[in-house]
Amino acid sequence: MMAVILGGGLGGLSTGYYLLKNGLYCNNLKVCLLEATDYCGGWIKSIRTKDYIFEQGPRTIRPKGPTGLNTLNMMQDLGLSEHVSAITPDHPAAKNRMIYVNKSLHLLPSSLKSVFKKNEPFSKPLIYAALNDLTQPHKSLNEDSIYNFVERRFGKEIADYAISPMICGICAGDAKEISVKFLMKTLFEYEQNHGSVIKGMVKSIFKENNNGNLEMSELAKRAKEERWNVYSLKGGLQIFPKTLMNYLKNKDIDIQLNSKVEELEFVDSSLVKVKKTDGQVLDASHVYSSIPSHVLAKLVNKQHPELAEHLKGIPFVTVGIVNLYFATDKPLVSPAFGFLVPPLENSPILGVVFDSCCIPDQNGTVLTVMLGGRWFNEKFGPDITKEELYNIAMKEIKSILKIEEKVAAFNVSILDKCIPQYVVGHYSRVDKIREYVQSKNLPLSLVGSSYDGVGINDVIYSAKAQVAQDCGQQ
Ligand SMILES: Cc1cc2nc3c(=O)[nH]c(=O)nc-3n(C[C@H](O)[C@H](O)[C@H](O)COP(=O)(O)OP(=O)(O)OC[C@H]3O[C@@H](n4cnc5c(N)ncnc54)[C@H](O)[C@@H]3O)c2cc1C
Repeated sequence: MMAVILGGGLGGLSTGYYLLKNGLYCNNLKVCLLEATDYCGGWIKSIRTKDYIFEQGPRTIRPKGPTGLNTLNMMQDLGLSEHVSAITPDHPAAKNRMIYVNKSLHLLPSSLKSVFKKNEPFSKPLIYAALNDLTQPHKSLNEDSIYNFVERRFGKEIADYAISPMICGICAGDAKEISVKFLMKTLFEYEQNHGSVIKGMVKSIFKENNNGNLEMSELAKRAKEERWNVYSLKGGLQIFPKTLMNYLKNKDIDIQLNSKVEELEFVDSSLVKVKKTDGQVLDASHVYSSIPSHVLAKLVNKQHPELAEHLKGIPFVTVGIVNLYFATDKPLVSPAFGFLVPPLENSPILGVVFDSCCIPDQNGTVLTVMLGGRWFNEKFGPDITKEELYNIAMKEIKSILKIEEKVAAFNVSILDKCIPQYVVGHYSRVDKIREYVQSKNLPLSLVGSSYDGVGINDVIYSAKAQVAQDCGQQ
């Protein structure tokens, strides 16, 4: 029996890891991972020099909740505890997060005290948003956009200045399209079941709070005790997939780089012919697909056009990333995580991360400008060059942060279709995809960021859950 994993990003690597942890089902399963490029890690890519680290994809991981603690367990198991660099609640990157509105930067409230004060650009203290929630009439809905939900419960300003930029920061998306279940499933359920988010919250306080019965490593316990806000990895985040890849290799998982898959031919419920672009065909008893859903759609289209249609229905956005290094002794920006720009501002940039504040071991000021996302095509068109993106980013940096210094080093990447968008209807679409796979008895499991969460923690946790489910069925 051989399981084939498609894709060597964190989704594919985690699947291999959990297959090993589950004793490779009944110990007689061979595992082979096929990765199209010449490295593992997918969107996780770090450029490291003695002076700076440029992260082209993700840079920080949240430690909270069962999924966050689960990732920390994996980190410790891989021997990465010493690399973890935590941002605790007293760190400026935890306290100082800003938004850019009406040509100025505004600190977002970060303490209970600040909720009672008026903070620009909000016209009233945030406590009024709570009153709004308590007084709104009930509206019965199955789903909604996150923007509509927040506007209804807490008012338009919270939807425009808090949630919309947050959605840009998390998935480069438009809060008016993204499902409320993407980020606020529980709050939406409180509204639907109790008539108000706050009433639901108060009732839930009396319910037991657990971490999904997860055993916690020393690292996870530390993160909980010290109330870490987020963390990064010294030396760059790419060390994580690299270490995971070596772990799998050492345990005899066959990792084949430069191996692009172009078609899957399902023969019966325990045989799939996995066809590579170099003409090689592998016989798999089971396939774990961690590649983006729109790529999987092409691989199954011939035999299963209906499945391909559902898979193609998950939209993706393109993000421009401009990493900048200024070799200055004094920091050029105030100590903060960075700032986000609400879509209302109609800016070409989504936000800027102050990497030299949140990632250790940088000699100077390091900034990352994120551009486009949901609005990439309408703002830049399909043919924009890296040079043009760099010029746009520099213009914004100069105007917003008043930086006139010369850039000592930079990197520009255009990450094509890099983040799936969990728009309204996403969860029922994913149910339909899985129902199709089950009804046709296809030996195919779906992991990776297209289905059950777009962040690093979600991708790892969903690989764990999928493997556990498949093992239970053996
Ligand atoms: C700009 C950006 C910033 C982000 N920031 C954060 C952050 O700060 N924190 C956080 O938690 N998350 C963040 N994320 C999300 C995080 O990067 C993803 O959750 C995660 O990397 C997804 O992993 P994956 O394995 O599902 O997909 P991918 O990383 O896309 O991996 C898929 C792999 O499949 C391979 N592949 C594709 N087609 C084929 C084929 N036909 N045959 C074989 N192989 C194929 C690809 O080469 C790739 O290696 C960010 C994402 C982006 C793009």
